[in-house]
Amino acid sequence: MTENSANSKPWYLKLHWQVLLALVAGVAFGWLTPTTAEKIGFLGDLFLRLLKMIIIPLIFTSLVSGVSSLGSARSVGRVGVRTVIYYTVSTTLAITVGLTLVNIIQPGSQLTLAGANELPEGFSTTSQTLPEFLIRMVPDNIVSAMASGDVLPVIVFALLFGLFLTRLNGPNVDTVQKVVDGVLEIIQALTLAIVKLAPVGIFALLAREVARSGPGIIWELRYYFVTVGAGLLIHATVTLPLVLFILGRRTPTKYARRMAPAVATAFSTASSSATLPLSMDCSEKAGNRRGVTSFVLPLGATVNMDGTALYEAVAALTIAQMYGVSLELPQQALVLLTALLASVGAAGIPMAGLVMLVVVLQAVGLPLEGIGTIIAVDRVLDMMRTATNVWSDLVGTAVVNRFEGDAS
Ligand code: ASP
Repeated sequence: MTENSANSKPWYLKLHWQVLLALVAGVAFGWLTPTTAEKIGFLGDLFLRLLKMIIIPLIFTSLVSGVSSLGSARSVGRVGVRTVIYYTVSTTLAITVGLTLVNIIQPGSQLTLAGANELPEGFSTTSQTLPEFLIRMVPDNIVSAMASGDVLPVIVFALLFGLFLTRLNGPNVDTVQKVVDGVLEIIQALTLAIVKLAPVGIFALLAREVARSGPGIIWELRYYFVTVGAGLLIHATVTLPLVLFILGRRTPTKYARRMAPAVATAFSTASSSATLPLSMDCSEKAGNRRGVTSFVLPLGATVNMDGTALYEAVAALTIAQMYGVSLELPQQALVLLTALLASVGAAGIPMAGLVMLVVVLQAVGLPLEGIGTIIAVDRVLDMMRTATNVWSDLVGTAVVNRFEGDAS
């Protein structure tokens, strides 16, 4: 869609307005009519399933096509290095904001273990060591990785496949390239159709969420909630726009408006992976090169999680404060490092960050039971951190795109 055709539409037909309306209406509806909100929740599930349906073919074809359109292993390496630098720096900035706020506000000193909830089943068994994480990245069976929706190994396979596609020539290889590009075109057209349903899906998911959680729980954990929320807000509205403006050379408000459908979908689904089709669509419409978009976004959806990392750091320190344990600078540095790794290891699905919190707590020797207290507000925080995660991926795409010399 060109800028002109987008501008000639009445405002209510523009997707970002529809999505914003859906957000507001969803909250109001869930609050006022919880029973009906619960009943229409299936519309949200339908939307979510449609998105999940296209994730694996989208990741595979867009990465293969993206890598091969970059032309050579050298360009892939260059984009790769820039992308990883962006991921690391933006996530570290996010954690620093979180650590600063949690040290100032001290939310944990207001909390007791009394309100602790049960931990989800299998909680303590889910942590993994770094070598385990690395091993898991390489699929031993690509079909089973695809079948179980295990995104990281699929990304690794697609990257290798794309790289070797660029190395070879000949009619057979050209046919494979054409097939992959053709499948991608079809999947993208399908994405476009699903994206139109976003306002309905977002409305239904949010209404049910509000109907289920209610505001009472948030009040009890308000200091903790505000600390995470303020951290995410600062990172999303100050740090990232500055990065976008200075390094990406984009106007943050304009770029944010274009990314609104993806960010709102991230918020309502609490899943970076499920949001991927929308992020890619918004990014390409905003003029980011396909090669960059299809490299930075699928990878970012699983490994670049600024919001999750910030949350891990705040949650770990809140739990330490709750137990009266004071963590000195070296230990806080360890929290920073493990929060970074935990955010890389977290899958782009709901609650993944909460599960990875185990890794951070274990690293600094804090009791896992502390999670039981903060779990009550996790869903809302999950929605907020996922929106931040996706926004950071999209900012990263603009930054890498600019350094590839083709920003528009
Ligand atoms: N739900 C988040 C995401 O998909 C991960 C997390 O739980 O923090 O990005």
